[in-house]
Amino acid sequence: KLHNLVQELRGNIRVYCRVRPLLRNEANSCITFPGDDEIRITNDVTGQKKTWRFDKIFAHEATQQELFDEVQALVVSCLDGYNVCIFAYGQTGSGKTHSMQGTAEDPGIYHRTFRELFNVIHDRRGDWRYKLQTSMIEIYNDEIQDLLIDANDTRPPRKLAIRTGPQGNYVPDLVIWPVNTPEEVQNALNTGTQNRSVGCTNLNEHSSRSHLILSVYCDITTPNHTQYQSRLHLVDLAGSERLKKSGATDERAKEAMFINRSLTSLGDVIAARAAKTPHVPYRNSTLTYLLQDALGGDSKTLMLLQINPSDDAFEESLCSLQFAARVN
Ligand code: ADP
Ligand code: MG
Repeated sequence: KLHNLVQELRGNIRVYCRVRPLLRNEANSCITFPGDDEIRITNDVTGQKKTWRFDKIFAHEATQQELFDEVQALVVSCLDGYNVCIFAYGQTGSGKTHSMQGTAEDPGIYHRTFRELFNVIHDRRGDWRYKLQTSMIEIYNDEIQDLLIDANDTRPPRKLAIRTGPQGNYVPDLVIWPVNTPEEVQNALNTGTQNRSVGCTNLNEHSSRSHLILSVYCDITTPNHTQYQSRLHLVDLAGSERLKKSGATDERAKEAMFINRSLTSLGDVIAARAAKTPHVPYRNSTLTYLLQDALGGDSKTLMLLQINPSDDAFEESLCSLQFAARVN
């Protein structure tokens, strides 16, 4: 409980910033780290500098494990009944998917979270009972797509809507899988990824225009048989880059409009909570409305700001840092 006390003192909204390494075709970095948990961006033409401080900063060389070490307590708190959301925010190519999903050799937050939850449940076994389930959806143009549907099901996809209920907002008919082992989790992730790629020519492009939400539903039974439930949402957001007007098709413009609106509304919701304003505008986007109960009350939110350090990304990185500073 000491950990939770510390967290209360620091508030329930945290911002971490991770700067990925320069890639092979990128020459110069506009990012430096002047002090503890500080990040500075420098315009290579004007020399103009701006510095921010966040709760934690992960520089180029930070490993997946080092990142997870700072996320671990947060995800485990869902086993104590807290609702938790982690969002990876940043322009396409800034490392969101690397941090959240990672690779088979070097898994990201998704795998490490489940591994940790299973470990903790195993260690705590005794009079406490836990049941974990998972769902995977994407939000594209403000519509919800269930990614765990049976791929052999030939019926036309149902339109999924959000309902309000005593356990929070939910999507009726959403496919939810019980998970007890890392293999079952892997199975769910594989199915989700496969379903996500159906009907799109380039999964990378498609995934940069939709939000991916991996959710964990946790049923907890205490030794005196009290039951409660919590949810943990791990979100790989759509790319935050602004649409380049030239050559944009209507389809692209529409996608960009939805992405922009939902990211803005996410920023509004978190900023409203941080400022403790009485009205929090959850209903302005599918993303915030769906996650309402995991974004409000005493739930815990982590914004993981991803930065591409390359000079060429200066404008977008500046926008991202400004976005994060608003909710910090
Ligand atoms: P996004 O999901 O934001 O579009 P990706 O996660 O796909 O970005 O990352 C873009 C590229 O950068 C990929 O080739 C990825 O492997 C690489 N990359 C991202 N973060 C790191 C990191 N921390 N270390 C090494 N390579 C990284
Ligand atoms: Mg991605």
